[in-house]
Amino acid sequence: SFRAIRVTEDEQGRHAAVETLEDERLPPGEVTVDVAYSTVNYKDGLALAGKGIVRTFPLTPGIDLAGTVADSADPRFAPGDRVVLNGFGRGESKDGGFAERARVGADELVPLPDALSTRQAAAIGTAGYTAMLSVLALEDAGVAPGDGDVLVTGAAGGVGSVAISLLAARGYRVIASTGRPEHGDYLRELGAADLVDRATLSAPGKPLASERWAAAVDSVGSHTLANVLAATRYGGTVTACGLAQGLDLPGSVAPFILRGVRLQGIDSVYAPMESRRRAWTALAAELDPAHLDSITETVALADVIPLAPRILAGRVRGRTLVDVRA
Ligand code: NAP
Repeated sequence: SFRAIRVTEDEQGRHAAVETLEDERLPPGEVTVDVAYSTVNYKDGLALAGKGIVRTFPLTPGIDLAGTVADSADPRFAPGDRVVLNGFGRGESKDGGFAERARVGADELVPLPDALSTRQAAAIGTAGYTAMLSVLALEDAGVAPGDGDVLVTGAAGGVGSVAISLLAARGYRVIASTGRPEHGDYLRELGAADLVDRATLSAPGKPLASERWAAAVDSVGSHTLANVLAATRYGGTVTACGLAQGLDLPGSVAPFILRGVRLQGIDSVYAPMESRRRAWTALAAELDPAHLDSITETVALADVIPLAPRILAGRVRGRTLVDVRA
């Protein structure tokens, strides 16, 4: 048997609780993984709160897992292999990582680079891997470190914290947009050269503003993203991965047609295996382990449930690692 957080639905609504399940309850799949760690992302906050993203009940939430292969019917994996899984509908439409055991498809697993411990890979999780997908998208768009300031919105969150560290390590001058100035020292230690108050970006703005950003990594959406685009320099690129402020994009085409600005969408959930491996290899090579430690807080499986309202309210800093066996 194994422990898992289960979200169930009845007449009173949706509930999350830790349950003990028998192995027969594992879904079909080629590979059984002894999960060591999961993490809490914004989406997991939604799932635990019974909001939106859960598509089937009962369900084990957790869009990330990292652990060791216990059993594999696929020749690409053998018992003892260390693996990480991010997305692919885990924790939304299929059982995810808030469990001591998971059964998954071989096509969903990324073998861990030797340079990363299982714990580090989990701490990076979807938020960190999405940050790297965003940084690689800027590189692919030709944004170079000498080009000028690169803005990171949602700076003290999971995607934002990792993006700052990665961009600064590559030599970009990073400006962090945050609504929590009390985390200013934290953001500067990760590599932010300066801070901006997110309130200056979150209200409705003009179609074009003076050119300020060579590029940006946005996890906030809505007016913030519209204002970031409006202030992006000629030929600059902005990546969009999130909706912490909102799903809307209340802007104009002016930045695209007058300044050749590029808006690059980032999806981690169904990103192809080639992009995943590229991102994980780059994370193993580039992410400062001391930074990863400083942004990570560790909690036990049962502690995850009360965390949901905090991440939805934007009150969690950096990454939250879940030690599923604690
Ligand atoms: P997180 O840790 O909660 O970080 C979000 C940050 O956004 C907060 O820390 C806060 O930063 C800022 N924020 C929160 N509410 C805001 C508001 N109303 N207005 C402006 N800023 C606000 O979440 P995360 O895990 O980093 O994820 C960030 C976003 O990216 C989420 O929307 C998530 O769903 C999305 N995401 C998408 C993908 C993908 O594949 N596309 C992958 C990962 C995450 P400050 O306190 O510093 O202001």
